[in-house]
Amino acid sequence: MVQRMSRMLLKTLRDAPADAETASHKLLVRAGYVRRSTAGVWTWLPLGKRVLENVTRVVREEMNAIGGQEVLLPALLPREPYEATGRADEYGDLLFRLKDRKGADYVLGPTHEEIFTHVVKDQATSYKDLPVILYQIQTKYRDEARPRSGVLRGREFQMKDSYSFDVDDDGLAEAYRLHREAYVKIFNRLGFDYRIVSAVSGAMGGSASEEFLAPAAAGEDTFVDCPACDYAANTEAVTVVVPPAGGTGHGPAEELDTPDTPTIETLAAHLGVPASATLKNLLVKVDGEITAVGVPGDREVDLGKLAEHLAPATVELVTAEDFEGRPDLVRGYIGPQHGRTFRYLADPRIAPGTAWITGANKPGRHARNVVCGRDFEVDQYLDVVVVEPGDPCPRCGAGLEIGRAIEIGHIFQLGRKYTDAFELDVLGKEGKPVRVTMGSYGIGISRAVAALAEQTADDQGLCWPREVAPADVHVVAAGKAAQTDLALDVAGKLEAAGVRVLVDDRAGVSPGVKFTDAELIGVPTILVVGRRAAEGIVELKDRRTGEREEVTVETALARLS
Ligand code: ATP
Ligand code: MG
Ligand code: MG
Ligand code: MG
Repeated sequence: MVQRMSRMLLKTLRDAPADAETASHKLLVRAGYVRRSTAGVWTWLPLGKRVLENVTRVVREEMNAIGGQEVLLPALLPREPYEATGRADEYGDLLFRLKDRKGADYVLGPTHEEIFTHVVKDQATSYKDLPVILYQIQTKYRDEARPRSGVLRGREFQMKDSYSFDVDDDGLAEAYRLHREAYVKIFNRLGFDYRIVSAVSGAMGGSASEEFLAPAAAGEDTFVDCPACDYAANTEAVTVVVPPAGGTGHGPAEELDTPDTPTIETLAAHLGVPASATLKNLLVKVDGEITAVGVPGDREVDLGKLAEHLAPATVELVTAEDFEGRPDLVRGYIGPQHGRTFRYLADPRIAPGTAWITGANKPGRHARNVVCGRDFEVDQYLDVVVVEPGDPCPRCGAGLEIGRAIEIGHIFQLGRKYTDAFELDVLGKEGKPVRVTMGSYGIGISRAVAALAEQTADDQGLCWPREVAPADVHVVAAGKAAQTDLALDVAGKLEAAGVRVLVDDRAGVSPGVKFTDAELIGVPTILVVGRRAAEGIVELKDRRTGEREEVTVETALARLS
């Protein structure tokens, strides 16, 4: 059916909402795609829903193409599995928590690793039941601290999440490869400009993780990009090497205002960032292996308690020597939202040892489920260094570039973190139980809509790639009744030929307003039925280039069908 603007629930706005900071937020609201329901929660109006559906369709097609099986799990979940893996603590306030009438604890799912592990444990008993890739396209809930960028960062949002289950590491590597290829196809089809970057540093050991980042000024991620080789990484997993100050890795502690026991507040003041900046991980050596330990929230790390918790493994501070000849190791940390990389040096009582904070949020092999504040207390941090553009690439030494981007996808070889937690085994070929290994893979579906808007919009408004546009052709009936008749006739013929059409047949709206709205709405081709309608001549306009041409109705139909 031709979408007639005269009958659609669609009201464009001249002004953007006062609190809108990003182009996508302003334009998606102004063009009538979405409306804010409450902070970080959005209503998708008819045009917006079409775009969301288009993104969903592309993702679904490519997931099916790699053998993904679509399922739908609940969003309302018991809290217990998230307690069992330590993620209820890790997520902290990000997790929406609720109770039922009997007082039982629930959460609204932020992501579903735990629950999928249960589903597979329930269904798969033998190696013959694996490998399997399961996915869903579903509403997720995260009580984000600053849901300010419109649908880019919702508290309720749409995600495609998939999970692979394999009996061995080769299987996991293959599932990961399949997902990576599918994501490349998806983001190419959607018309994204994107980079694939490492999301976990070399210091994290075996597990592989990459993010798909869409460069955009509105992005909240910062990534380093090497102009000379193919190295690119999210600074959350920074592998930038800054030569240790004074050769010991021990920085100028005196730069801090408070020489004794700096707290997160003094540190934050020193950095010029809010005290709410989140420090994620601590790098230590566990049994000689450099390992990251999760440190959620604004806490301080007591290494003694950490060592106690990890016993009988030995825990040592990472020293400057550990970084020698290891350009792959993490040296920095980016505070989310702040776009700066910080290097945290050691507790002076243990100097010249150096404890490093990284942002890679994945506990290492020994350090599974270690949660600061629950399992150990935190002590103190000291010095900070900001990674600057021009710092040496860890792979080739060329000067790095630093850019802002939106995380649109994330693929991750989890390994056995969750299958260990829930003892997910299947009977192996040799008749013995085998612990299953797992991957998880996300795409922000609703975020993709906003991220595309960020990358493609221009001064006039939205400007969609055809694959996701709410229509192929926007037919504008300039005003007179005869023009409207011809416009509806052309629109009907185009629809019959399989072209998706939006027709502006509104009465009593000036041609000027209609043209402005067509630019704002951003359908790729605009067909104007205007002053030469009586001669059977219409105007074709390319939304992106602005090129326009007068053609006969027949030519227009032939070209667009
Ligand atoms: P971010 O770093 O932006 O907070 P994340 O790393 O927490 O994202 P993941 O847990 O990796 O997100 O989730 C998978 C995907 O879901 C992300 O790559 C992103 O595209 C999307 N996503 C995550 N949080 C949100 C949100 N609050 N609103 C919309 N999409 C989101
Ligand atoms: Mg997040
Ligand atoms: Mg992220
Ligand atoms: Mg992520």
